[in-house]
Amino acid sequence: MTTAQVIDGKAVAESVREEITRRSKDLLDNHGTRPGLAVVIVGEDPASQVYVRNKQKTAEACGFHSVKHALAAETSESDLLALVQSLNEDKAIHGILVQLPLPGHIDESKVLNLIKPEKDVDGFHPINVGLLTAGERSSALVPCTPAGSLVLIKRALGTDLSGKTAVVVGRSNIVGKPMASLLLQESCTVTIAHSRTKDLPDVVRAADIVVAAVGRPEMVRGDWIKPGATVIDVGINRVPTPEKGEGKSRLVGDVAYEEAAAHAGAITPVPGGVGPMTIAMLMANTVTAARRQLGLPEAEPIF
Ligand code: NDP
Repeated sequence: MTTAQVIDGKAVAESVREEITRRSKDLLDNHGTRPGLAVVIVGEDPASQVYVRNKQKTAEACGFHSVKHALAAETSESDLLALVQSLNEDKAIHGILVQLPLPGHIDESKVLNLIKPEKDVDGFHPINVGLLTAGERSSALVPCTPAGSLVLIKRALGTDLSGKTAVVVGRSNIVGKPMASLLLQESCTVTIAHSRTKDLPDVVRAADIVVAAVGRPEMVRGDWIKPGATVIDVGINRVPTPEKGEGKSRLVGDVAYEEAAAHAGAITPVPGGVGPMTIAMLMANTVTAARRQLGLPEAEPIF
């Protein structure tokens, strides 16, 4: 039985996109500039193709100048680096996103490190990682998934998170670590758990805020959740549903939703929780990057 408030990521993402569309129009009307986003994809990975299409579609809907570079899987590292370099120099482009994963023969960090930090709308460049870790979020570009997760946490709990106990399960550079940095900056008491953490259920049971970013279907069980806790499920896992027919599947998160919803105060569903926020925050980062490159004052933070 669901007793928790269901955090509607789709609706929140929609409101963020509306605000970004307004800001984009303001840049065009008052400064003669469309925010420019370049998305680079190498190879044919079907999931990446879907992500890139959605990013492009959303960028266009927000009124951006949107450019896609689709390169063959066998593109050489030096050709990709040359493309990134040309986008670094392109004045019409304010944000560059290289869709991961890249094919095995390309050194991912070499590519990501070449993106100018001020155009790094994924927030993966070491300069942006450093700024976020140093507590200088207002000059960094923050990775989109954790930024979107924080927006959802604040929708559920209000803007003052200080003193709350937060447990982030997962320590990836893309989600877990930047999520922990953001929560620390909000003055939460933060624990980062991972595959070597002992007594994980007990660790999670201490949390007022749980963020699950593990990549294991429904790993976090209902009885791990402290009554009333806020649960943010970042996981996107496709699991087979043979009962619905051969080859059929469905998406589930890293949290056993029904069980957890019976204990939580608020919880994000999968799909329709964190997923839509990731793209919305990419748009927000692109407008932020454009304003900074134009030498304009910072807009009100989205979170
Ligand atoms: P990674 O595989 O990079 O990291 C997974 C983390 O989970 C690692 O730190 C790992 O620990 C930890 N882990 C694995 N198994 C366990 C376990 N049994 N107990 C505790 N911790 C464990 O994944 P990502 O961070 O990239 O992604 C996590 C999930 O979020 C995935 O489902 C992914 O699809 C989803 N995702 C969703 C996005 C969205 O837009 N909603 C965007 C990005 C990701 P260790 O370091 O010790 O190996």
